Amino acid sequence: MTDRDLLMIPGPIELEPAVLRALGEKTTSHVDARFIAAFGRALSALRQVAQADGAQPFIIAGSGTLAMEMAVQNLVEPGEAAVVVNTGYFSDRIGAMLERAGAHVTHVGASPGDAPAEADVEAALVKTRPKVLTITHVDTSTGVRAPLERLAALGKKHGALVVVDAVCSLGAEEIRATAWGLDVVFAGSQKALGAPPGLAVLTASPAAQAAHAARTRPVASMYADFAEWLPIMRAYEAGTPSYFATPAVNLVRALDVSLASLLEEGMSARVARHARTAAAFRAGATALGLTGLPARPELAAHTLSALRYPAGVDGALVGRVRERGVTVAGGLHPALKATYFRVGHMGAVSPSDIVAAVAAVGRALAASGHACDPGAAVAAATRALDA
Ligand SMILES: *Cc1c(COP(=O)(O)O)cnc(C)c1O
Repeated sequence: MTDRDLLMIPGPIELEPAVLRALGEKTTSHVDARFIAAFGRALSALRQVAQADGAQPFIIAGSGTLAMEMAVQNLVEPGEAAVVVNTGYFSDRIGAMLERAGAHVTHVGASPGDAPAEADVEAALVKTRPKVLTITHVDTSTGVRAPLERLAALGKKHGALVVVDAVCSLGAEEIRATAWGLDVVFAGSQKALGAPPGLAVLTASPAAQAAHAARTRPVASMYADFAEWLPIMRAYEAGTPSYFATPAVNLVRALDVSLASLLEEGMSARVARHARTAAAFRAGATALGLTGLPARPELAAHTLSALRYPAGVDGALVGRVRERGVTVAGGLHPALKATYFRVGHMGAVSPSDIVAAVAAVGRALAASGHACDPGAAVAAATRALDA
């Protein structure tokens, strides 16, 4: 891979140059006035990006999986019930994490590429009366976007705390945490938030904080405990430093820059841009004779495309695309991973990146013996971009 190659996997992603510059600046003290200002801005921006008025934002060194761990460890105690809306690999992960935390977990699943029926989710809520309902907004293993607003409403109706894995959606898909009753929304810095990997982010609603405060025993992991971090996050947002564990100074500054650019674009404009970009990439993919894993178009995420290999083509395609200058990802869902590949199109992705990706995939497919016309696919993608 050279510096001119395009990184189009579902995270990490191509970053804006200003974000990378922030990463390369001199590392300051974590109590330096400029850092305090950047951390405070990033926390408020995170609350705005998740539309989580009234919620407490957290930004902690770690990956998205740490944010998942924080949601689970702070909200759930041994013996409590949880319902997992299972759309793939990352839903399996939060289910396993809940089990390690001692929860009784009920998975409501669907065949890969589909989302569970809302009636099945409601039946599990009625039957098990869980403390938490978890929803993977976009499951990165299948490219399926769950109907978040409707599922969250079911969780609320039945008194559950709603925990949302938004690692592959926050910053690109519509999320209205407060309006939709999302108690915890968690993500990582390296996907649609447009920063390098290394930060776990989440927002916790007043109800999520109250559930933490009402625990009968302390959170087993000190690093993951809301109680340790709450005073720190509040202090930085109020413009004063405080210490529990050293913040990732340069990463927080890079995230501050990317969140500022995201808010400058505006969340609704950004969501609309991702929808347009996804539609254009898929117009190209369809013209190449590819079909997506999601069972219905309305289930297809705007942050990535999961595409089946056509007959006669296998995982060697990923290497052939890369030889043509674009890095894409193989499959991830355990039952299907040898049968499809994934292309990320989120964050700073530009129309010309989409055209380049369609061309590289098309040329690699042709080199793999699949009959297709890469030029016609590029034309289809550019038509969609200009529609
Ligand atoms: C990437 C991802 C995760 C895990 O995040 P890491 O930063 O890799 O730990 C969890 N859930 C979803 C939906 C993801 O896409």
